[in-house]
Amino acid sequence: MKLAKFSIGMGDRFAHQGVAQLRAIVKANSFGLDISPVWNKSNREHIYVHSKPEDVRKEADAAVAALGFKGKYFVDADHINLTTVAPFVETADFFTLDVAAFIGKPSAEADVKAFVASCSKYIGDLVIPGIEKPLHVSAGLLEEIASKFLTATQQASEIYQYLAERKGVGNFVTEVSMDEVESPQTPVYLLFILKMLADKGVPAQTIAPKFTGRFNKGVDYRGDLQQFAKEFEEDVLVIDFAVKEFGLPEELKLSVHSGSDKFSIYPIMADIIRKHDKGLHLKTAGTTWLEEVIGLAVAGGDGLELAKKIYANSLNRSEELCAPYADVIDIDTAQLPTVEEVKDWSGEKFANTLRHIPGHPDYNSNFRQLIHVAYKVAAELGDEYYDMLKKYSDVIGNCVEENIYDRHLKRLFNL
Ligand SMILES: [Zn+2]
Repeated sequence: MKLAKFSIGMGDRFAHQGVAQLRAIVKANSFGLDISPVWNKSNREHIYVHSKPEDVRKEADAAVAALGFKGKYFVDADHINLTTVAPFVETADFFTLDVAAFIGKPSAEADVKAFVASCSKYIGDLVIPGIEKPLHVSAGLLEEIASKFLTATQQASEIYQYLAERKGVGNFVTEVSMDEVESPQTPVYLLFILKMLADKGVPAQTIAPKFTGRFNKGVDYRGDLQQFAKEFEEDVLVIDFAVKEFGLPEELKLSVHSGSDKFSIYPIMADIIRKHDKGLHLKTAGTTWLEEVIGLAVAGGDGLELAKKIYANSLNRSEELCAPYADVIDIDTAQLPTVEEVKDWSGEKFANTLRHIPGHPDYNSNFRQLIHVAYKVAAELGDEYYDMLKKYSDVIGNCVEENIYDRHLKRLFNL
């Protein structure tokens, strides 16, 4: 089972926007692209919104049927591990094996030694075609990489074996993710991580390293764009080398867990993948839920009232809501409007404050990040929220489609 060269991972917390999301993909594909949509949801999200893995499958199948979509599409068990994977086995066909928690866990000295020995031919100046300067590989560096990543890659192998036994080899897409950590994995690290995965029989088709810079939830990238470009390009070239050298699946490509809306790196990634004729998997648009709130605000009346209520509840509970996301948000609370202020806002003002249009005078990234992590608030409203999603499904659907198409796909594919 293979993804198309380009694939877009989309989150949809409340599972009402599958059709609108797919419309955006269809629109991009009408320009000659073949993007595979992937609906992803992590265990954590399922817990917060009280949904089940089979709900995502139902949503994806229904959206595909509604639009008569003929391309490949997937359902991603996002960020699973051995303890959380079981409920996803039946209905997912894309598995993101999250082994970040095992990075740095000690492994047997003999295993480290054996790995270093297996890499002896790479010690010295290793030339990767396309990378200007050779990579400096020393026994010490290999030992360091092995000590940090052997256990993590072993864990990937165990989850993969678990899935292969239950679903059958070749019946699902395998992604390995290491992005939810503090320190980035440099290209040379990535190279030897890929060797470990190959050694352990993990046929990774996408790999999600931690890149340099900050990938805060729902807002733009923060970091050195030039450094990102260099690292991203080297990663692409390292993957190309690793596929040939270690015998990994030829379709192996980078997966960027963007945390949504990393607009400033889109053109950089686009240029590099075009230059080297490579594929890309981009997980984005977890912000679909924000488009629901924007749509409610735009709808006005009771829709706008509910949007304001969601903000008021979010602000009152901001500490609790932000805690699980502390590493991936940067909210300046002094910049958050008070509930009183927001009470007087028009739907347009509310939407413009929340909508991610960098440079728009009303756009407030603090407001946006807070609401982004506050989906639990909407989940707790239950039918009060879901009824409004149905009532204003047209205006919300347009917001969702416009967001994915105009702000994401157009930037990424130069449409
Ligand atoms: Zn991730």
